[in-house]
Amino acid sequence: MSLTNTAKLFFNNSPKSGGHCALVNSIVIKTDYIIAGGGCAGMTLALALVKKNKKPTQILIIDQESKNLNDKTWCFWAKEFPYPMELAHHYWENLSFGSDRKQSFHSIAPYKYYMIRSKQWYAYMKAQLQQSEQVTFITQKIDDIGEDGISPYVLIDSEKWRASKVINSCIRVKPQASTNPSFFLWQHFKGYWIETDTDTFEPTVGTLMDFRTEQKGNSRFFYVLPFNKRKALVEYTIFSSDLITEKEYDYAFREYMASHYPGVSYQVNEVEKGKIPMTNRTYPRYYSPNVINIGTISGVVKPTTGYAFLRIQEESQIIAQKLVRGESIHDHVATKPRFAFYDRLLLQILQQQGGKGKKIFSSLFHNNPISRILTFLSEQSYLKQEALIFLFLPKAPFLHALADQSWLILKEKLRNTFSNISMNKKKQSGPKKKVMSYPF
Ligand SMILES: Cc1cc2nc3c(=O)[nH]c(=O)nc-3n(C[C@H](O)[C@H](O)[C@H](O)COP(=O)(O)OP(=O)(O)OC[C@H]3O[C@@H](n4cnc5c(N)ncnc54)[C@H](O)[C@@H]3O)c2cc1C
Repeated sequence: MSLTNTAKLFFNNSPKSGGHCALVNSIVIKTDYIIAGGGCAGMTLALALVKKNKKPTQILIIDQESKNLNDKTWCFWAKEFPYPMELAHHYWENLSFGSDRKQSFHSIAPYKYYMIRSKQWYAYMKAQLQQSEQVTFITQKIDDIGEDGISPYVLIDSEKWRASKVINSCIRVKPQASTNPSFFLWQHFKGYWIETDTDTFEPTVGTLMDFRTEQKGNSRFFYVLPFNKRKALVEYTIFSSDLITEKEYDYAFREYMASHYPGVSYQVNEVEKGKIPMTNRTYPRYYSPNVINIGTISGVVKPTTGYAFLRIQEESQIIAQKLVRGESIHDHVATKPRFAFYDRLLLQILQQQGGKGKKIFSSLFHNNPISRILTFLSEQSYLKQEALIFLFLPKAPFLHALADQSWLILKEKLRNTFSNISMNKKKQSGPKKKVMSYPF
């Protein structure tokens, strides 16, 4: 049995809560919630549950890592920082956008662009959660998740750990095909934390996107976030279906530094790599009736930007409230249909005409104040603001995508109609009748 002492203590001392009870290798496991995956979504939801639940609730957070490293850097724009300010590693009040045509600099008031380093955030969240005495952390790799006749469970070393509810943010679930055309690509990146020998950066201005790099048929840009005149995070980011090699990231980074900071010597102190799914496919909210998916694997990531941190904060409050009230949870942060539609159009362009991304983003950022774009990307804009945004966008790729999607939707509708007719005929005339073949 691979239970840690902390876990044994927790299980044996667990107060009488409504949790499920089962005997596994002679240890009684009794808990209300198992949160499988104690990353961003897992810990945020756990804290929301602790704060909203008036009854004592036992929560077991299981992660394969002890979560004490800087495995992620989260950046987001917000009017108000959602945590104590000491958790903000840095923030910028101005952002810039770069393309061959020009560099534009903007104040982003009423927003600020914040950065959180995960190591500090994990430490803060753990301290908050441990204070409550309702939460226990366990470091274990989960092999599977499921639900049988007894209860939902997580499988660890061939043993089932049971709870009334399992909340999953770690075992991958397959996104489902939706009735709308769906697209999938990766936002993948490598960030270099550099320190230069001379004063090089303007620390009050972060660069959100600098497209002055070879596009190679995708959308490729650099993201430069300076902390002072000599220290910055320089990140090479690509939206594409295929990933690239380590050498390719490094080559593009060196080229960018040589072209835009000529003669500047620097050292790389740290690197960060990652990939984020960008898709409008639908992820199932329920893995099974008592196993709920949250975080990235529930489709919370904004498909066209890859941003999710703030959406996870908002979503966790809604989910925790519903869990406490015993209500079912259907949607993640509700995306209004028109934003889902915009995302779908842009995703299609980025996937099928990737090289056009530079032109689209350049038109977007050079013709609008960045704050308007940020409001739009936060899905808080009004139709009038959206009309102003679309006015200056290159029309051809969007019309092409629109025509393509209208055709795909029509095709799907016709297919369904023929399928229903065929099913009805089959029902009326018995199973031996020949099945109708579709004209596509
Ligand atoms: C490198 C990176 C940088 C990002 N930067 C930003 C950003 O700047 N802004 C933004 O808004 N979004 C960003 N995102 C997107 C999103 O906000 C993050 O991915 C966020 O961490 C998602 O939360 P999550 O809980 O779904 O996943 P995670 O935070 O990754 O949590 C999942 C947890 O599951 C654990 N786990 C996985 N498999 C198992 C297993 N078998 N057994 C036990 N535990 C397991 C992992 O160790 C992990 O702790 C970034 C994503 C990445 C990958």
